[in-house]
Amino acid sequence: MTRNNMARMPAGNCRVITLDGPAGAGKSTVAREVSRRLGLPFLDTGAIYRAITLIMLEKNIPAENSPRLRDALRGFFISFDGGRVLVCGQDVTEEIRTPEIDMHVSAYSALPEVRSALLDIQRSQSAGGLVAEGRDMGTVVFPNACLKIFLTAAPASRARRRYDERVARGEPANYGEILETVNRRDRMDSERETAPLRQAPDAILLDTTDLSFEQVVERILGYAEGARPGE
Ligand code: C5P
Repeated sequence: MTRNNMARMPAGNCRVITLDGPAGAGKSTVAREVSRRLGLPFLDTGAIYRAITLIMLEKNIPAENSPRLRDALRGFFISFDGGRVLVCGQDVTEEIRTPEIDMHVSAYSALPEVRSALLDIQRSQSAGGLVAEGRDMGTVVFPNACLKIFLTAAPASRARRRYDERVARGEPANYGEILETVNRRDRMDSERETAPLRQAPDAILLDTTDLSFEQVVERILGYAEGARPGE
């Protein structure tokens, strides 16, 4: 067994690890790999906010507090099957990654009604420990996590990552537009009143601009090994 595929148990039984940061910093791929190597479940909370956005757009419900929005928030069921995302049993993995969802997701996720409806869903996943990624994992959802990472990178490098992902999926991609959407989304996510994108005071800042994927993963595994006992 190599060091890479051996499940590594963090010291002190650190079971809840959070990764927050702006769009395109590589949180999902890094968190997925860290969770695999530690043998912990992975929670992609951006996928949950994206799925909610898809539901609202399909129902033509605008991003504002309303009785229709509150009703819609009661009538859905989101689940994960491996890397797939399901809404009421229907696979929406590809549909939640379109430019249209990118464009609207920050408006829906800024609504306090949406955030509070999703809080319990997220917390209920943590019973056996997890690696959770998003914007408010360390500040709001799992404030007692034993290891909190704030992952960031220069905007140009984050937009490039999103551009490469889209090209790899064979989709049309315009770098300038992607950079603009990434910047706009980060601004909205950081400036909203409820659970803004923010580094928790006890989070470790990790800038990935000049690091390889493997270096980022190894650093986080190193931090996890040295983490204090906690949730
Ligand atoms: O991480 P991802 O790019 O998939 O997230 C999509 C959007 O979901 C973010 O821009 C943000 O508006 C919202 N989000 C959030 N809180 C989280 C995770 C995602 O508000 N914990």
